[in-house]
Amino acid sequence: MAKLIDGKAFAKDLRGRIAGAVQELKTKHGFTPGLAVVLVGEDPASRVYVANKAKQTVEVGMNSWEHRLPASTSEADLLALVEKLNRDPACHGILVQLPLPKHIDSAKVLSAIDPAKDVDGFHVVNVGRLSTGQEALVACTPVGSVMLAKHTLGKLEGLEAVVIGRSNIVGKPVAQLLLAENCTVTIAHSKTRDLPGVVRRADLVIAAVGRPEMVKGDWLKPGACVIDVGINRIERDGKARLVGDCDFASCEKVAGAITPVPGGVGPMTIACLLHNTVKAACAIKGIATPAM
Ligand code: NAD
Repeated sequence: MAKLIDGKAFAKDLRGRIAGAVQELKTKHGFTPGLAVVLVGEDPASRVYVANKAKQTVEVGMNSWEHRLPASTSEADLLALVEKLNRDPACHGILVQLPLPKHIDSAKVLSAIDPAKDVDGFHVVNVGRLSTGQEALVACTPVGSVMLAKHTLGKLEGLEAVVIGRSNIVGKPVAQLLLAENCTVTIAHSKTRDLPGVVRRADLVIAAVGRPEMVKGDWLKPGACVIDVGINRIERDGKARLVGDCDFASCEKVAGAITPVPGGVGPMTIACLLHNTVKAACAIKGIATPAM
């Protein structure tokens, strides 16, 4: 049976280390990192997510600002708020919650954020820095996924890694991070031929597809490490349930280690957002980031 990779416990430890770093910045350098989150509209999942971000930001001792704007907010007004936050010296991280209402051009808004404050890592400057091996703010879920893989396997160098999914938010940045760890990386996607055959090569599988329980146990190399990024809401036996992109029941029989859903990658995302905010704050202040 596969070892369970406990993302919830890892994220809690990480938040503890972040809280220590924040305390050190306050006492030694006299400032408090601050994160502004902007939510446009009433999407219920986004509201819960933004509230959780704010709560955890305060819990690690950072400043938190929530800007809740109505769905009717114009693109110009949203851009004006981003510009105000870019200029605010107390704010070191800006996150605009996606998806935005259809009348707003998300790409335009994301590229208006100062790359130094882009704690979601979606600005093309940060994406370009990551892909050219430079210091960058990197998207949170990919960072959290690779942290869990390293925590489980130690050094990733030389491993065959298969990433399923090529989105800008997860698949591509995960692949870049694994490349930087010296893995041999394959990116599989919806047009990949013989996906089970490709996945069977992998020592490390990262599934970011958005298809419930697609990856089966008999697709895996015995002992492979499986990081399941998928979060899919399904109904089973009349009850609403969250499942990953991997069929947990069959995968746990073959894998060496596997993340559960929920409780695997999910809790890592906000922890990595806080991690990025501390990193951004230190870079803006021109001081070394404390160990976290
Ligand atoms: P997306 O829809 O943008 O991308 C999905 C990718 O999967 C695409 O690149 C597509 O080519 C690929 N794909 C689709 N069908 C496929 C198939 N049959 N075979 C192989 N590849 C296929 O999704 P995303 O934003 O990258 O998210 C992926 C999953 O991760 C979703 O379930 C999402 O909810 C979850 N997610 C979780 C977190 C978290 O915090 N844990 C964060 C972001 C996304």
